This record gives sequence, C-alpha cells and structure tokens, in this order.
Amino acid sequence: MGVKHTIVRLGLETLYFSGAHMLLRPLVGGVGAILMLHHVRPSRRDRFQPNRQLEVAPEFLSRVIRKLRRDDIDLVSLDEMHRRLTEREFGRRFACITFDDGYRDNRQWAYPILKQADVPFCIYMATGFADRLGKLWWLALEQVIARNARVALVMNGRETHFDCADVDAKVAAFEKLYWWLRAQPSEQALLSTMDDLAARYGVDMAAFCGEQCMDWREIGDLARDPLVTIGAHTVNHPMLAKASEGEVRTELKMSRAVIAAALGKAPDHFAYPYGDPTTAGAREFRIAAELGFKTAVTTRPGVLFAEHAGHLTALPRLSLNGGYQDTRYIPVLMSGAATALWNGFKRVDAA
Ligand SMILES: [Zn+2]
Repeated sequence: MGVKHTIVRLGLETLYFSGAHMLLRPLVGGVGAILMLHHVRPSRRDRFQPNRQLEVAPEFLSRVIRKLRRDDIDLVSLDEMHRRLTEREFGRRFACITFDDGYRDNRQWAYPILKQADVPFCIYMATGFADRLGKLWWLALEQVIARNARVALVMNGRETHFDCADVDAKVAAFEKLYWWLRAQPSEQALLSTMDDLAARYGVDMAAFCGEQCMDWREIGDLARDPLVTIGAHTVNHPMLAKASEGEVRTELKMSRAVIAAALGKAPDHFAYPYGDPTTAGAREFRIAAELGFKTAVTTRPGVLFAEHAGHLTALPRLSLNGGYQDTRYIPVLMSGAATALWNGFKRVDAA
C-alpha cells in the first residue's frame, strides 16, 4: 500500500502542479463521480496511524462540499445518479457522497455538516457491525502492533517475529501483516489468524464494533432523514471473491433482508467489502445485478462515464482519504485525470 500511495500522491501532485488535468479533461472527464469515505473525525496526533487512509477531518469534508458547489457540480443521491445514468441525462456533472461500514462518527461529525449544506449521502452498512457481531480486524491489528515492541505469530506454519519497537518498525510490520492477511485464501483463514493474534496480545477484537459502529437505533434515526440512503454492505464484511457463490448470494440477500426488517425499507444499493479486484469481480457484479440491486460500488478508482449505465453493479469510486486532505486535489480527481492514468485510460473496468 505504501508504494501505491506514493504513486497516487506523486501522480496527483504532478497533475495538479502541471495543470495537465485541464489539458486531459476533454479526453478523460466523466459525467460524474461517487466519492468514498469511511471515518470522519478530528485528526489524532499519534504517529502510528496505519488506518489513517480510512479517515478525514470534519473541516476537510466541509471544504470538499464547498469546493464541489463552487465548481458547479450537483451533489445527488444514489437514486438520482442511477436515474441520470439510465436516462442518459448528462447536462450537469454530479457527485454522490458515500460512507462505508456505518461508523458512529459519520453521525456525530459528518451528518451535521451534510445536513446543514443539504447534501444527500449514502451509508453502506454491514449489518453484523450494527448487530455487534462484526470483527474489525484491521483495528485489532493496529492495536496489537501499537501496544507491543515485538509481535509473534504463526505465518505459513512457522513462528514469525516482528520488531515493533519504534514507529517505522510498527508501520513496516503493519504493512506486511495487513497484506499477508488480505492475501489469505478465505475470510475464515484471515479471522482465525487474527483471533489468535488478538488473544495472544490481550486485544478485545469484539469491542471495536460497539465502540466504533452505529447500532440500529442510531442508524434508524439517520435513516428517517430523506437526505440519507442506507445501502447494504453484506452481513459479515467478507472478501466475497474468495467465498463460494452460495455464500456470496447469502451475504447479499441476508444483508438486504435484515436492513428491510430493521428499517422498513429494503436497500437498493450495495457496496462490496474491500471492493478491490481481489475481493469483488465479474461474478460478484453479476450476482448483485441478479439480486436486483440498482447499483453496486467497488473501490476501484475512477469517475463515471455514460458507458457505466451498462455496468451499474461495477461502479468505480474516488476515495477521499487521510493521505490527501487537500482540496486542491478535488478538481484533479473529479476531472478523471488521475484515475485515467491509473487505469491506463480504460473507462470501464467491470471484469
Ligand atoms: Zn467496508
């Protein structure tokens, strides 16, 4: 992830400072974009924050909204995005704001800002998180490494040790362990390793859900506001592409049924957990469409083109994250120039 971040950041800065995005715009400019956020909360000072790419500060969200409005971009709901794509109404550029997972800080910090500015948004919730059954293993991993100077676990059948004595060592250990876990053949394999690690170092993995995620009452309050769309994000937040077809169908169907039962309205929109090509691909895009979701979003980077009307369950997003909290990047991202370079100028990536 470190290298990828550096490339993205260098790419963005090069594009911004060269003004190249304005030159590329006729070539790459899409009809709109879906913005992806996770946590919105005041920045912490800790030097070891390996999950910082999952958060932005409230002031940054405010600035992004003001910037998009100044640039005359419509801020619309996912239903309105779906309508514009399917009716081919591209007179004005648009953006949708989306949050993944259902964190409590969305309600505490983002909602007042969005409400005041009258901006519609979607929260894609994993129902297991609201039910307090979810395992936010990436936070448990952060805590294991933050609290210990040395971490040991069984990797590929061998006891392996990581030096975690200072911040640089902790960052390196997190990077290595995070991607090794993500490369596990199944969610069960990932979670059983994390269960062992959490138990070994006295970290209560179950507690993160209650601390960080909204419960049903909190989600229900938000869902009553017409600005808010509640989307599905599975029950257990698994790496879907590594599960069987039956498991994928169950995760999608159950999450929709549980939300419908709890909130009185079935969700029409879906977000694939993790959402990169290793966790969501052609099979998942087909299943989401077959189950009747109007749209489904990935975390593949990109803006929306007219052609996406034919790939409504394989939509790309632009990540707003902790590494790039600078509104100078927004026009570059919205122009599609950065992601066009990233995608080799391919407009639709639905394979
Ligand atoms: Zn998620």
